[in-house]
Amino acid sequence: MKGLAELGEFGLIDHIRARFPQPVAPELGIGDDAALLSPSAGRQVVVSTDLLAEGIHFDPGFGPARLLGRKSLAVNLSDLASMGAIPRWFFLSLAIPAGFSLETIEGFLDGLAEQAAEHNCILAGGDTCGSKGGLTISVTIMGEQRPELILKRSGAQPGDDVWVSGSLGDSALGLKLLMEGVRLGGAHDPLLLRQLDPTPRCELGLKLAEAGLVNAMIDISDGLLADLGHICEQSVCGAEILLGQLPLSPALYTCSSKQPVFPWPLVISGGEDYELCFTAPRCNREAIQKISKTAGIPLTVVGKVTNSRQVQAILPDGTNFQPSASGYTHF
Ligand code: ADP
Ligand code: MG
Repeated sequence: MKGLAELGEFGLIDHIRARFPQPVAPELGIGDDAALLSPSAGRQVVVSTDLLAEGIHFDPGFGPARLLGRKSLAVNLSDLASMGAIPRWFFLSLAIPAGFSLETIEGFLDGLAEQAAEHNCILAGGDTCGSKGGLTISVTIMGEQRPELILKRSGAQPGDDVWVSGSLGDSALGLKLLMEGVRLGGAHDPLLLRQLDPTPRCELGLKLAEAGLVNAMIDISDGLLADLGHICEQSVCGAEILLGQLPLSPALYTCSSKQPVFPWPLVISGGEDYELCFTAPRCNREAIQKISKTAGIPLTVVGKVTNSRQVQAILPDGTNFQPSASGYTHF
């Protein structure tokens, strides 16, 4: 296989273009100074961007490059899912250290192409440059939705149920295990894969938006407490979470039962769950459970929206849980 230096910037861009289906005319993807894209009639464009920096968001030693490729798009897809938007296009910007292995880039592109195909998302452009630090990956995603269906953080109403999809804490526990030296290929794979290969809840987000049952929604990237806190800020309300009702996976239970104290901080503040958290009027419970069944994804009521201005977490014994930090922050 050729090296990166031999291939060069434009050789690499040509190679990337050849690996991804391109938009069909009159749209324009990779190859000109800018892309030309048209949303469907009556739909608004929904855009989100995420940066993944080596040493901060990922450690190349934790898993194969293919999973990093999948995750780079998954975290962006999750942002569209939380708005109830349909993914359409994405942009890939790479800062690559000199001498970087082309095989690793190939593995990364394999995973990215898989995830893009799974969600019908077209690579429409990007940027490529060298890096004097580690590998940096930036993905910008564009989706679309009818404006009246788009879900925001700002619609929660006091009295609403607070719901979460799937299970919480697996990804944070997976990261902890990876940092302790555990690798793929053993009994902890279900936990490690929640960290290395998260599943964006795109179809679920779309179904909830189309059903018109939800008042506010967010995806859980920084931990339930922090992200529900964002809903509360934007909606000018508070929330009460019953920790005993949080959905936890069998894998997390098994692992946590060996600990002297239950790892609530991992579950509510660990982050990178990429589950959806949303609020909805109580009268919509049955209809939401139906959506859960058709989507094949558990949905659980974990608390309620209140008139106060804080997010309170209540332990199974009825006392207040006081977290030392509410979620991951960079600075
Ligand atoms: P400019 O000099 O204007 O930044 P480039 O030569 O970087 O243009 O890009 C040429 C074309 O290749 C553009 O269409 C751009 O979107 C695309 N492109 C560059 N890097 C990437 C990448 N990493 N992934 C996808 N498309 C890319
Ligand atoms: Mg460029």
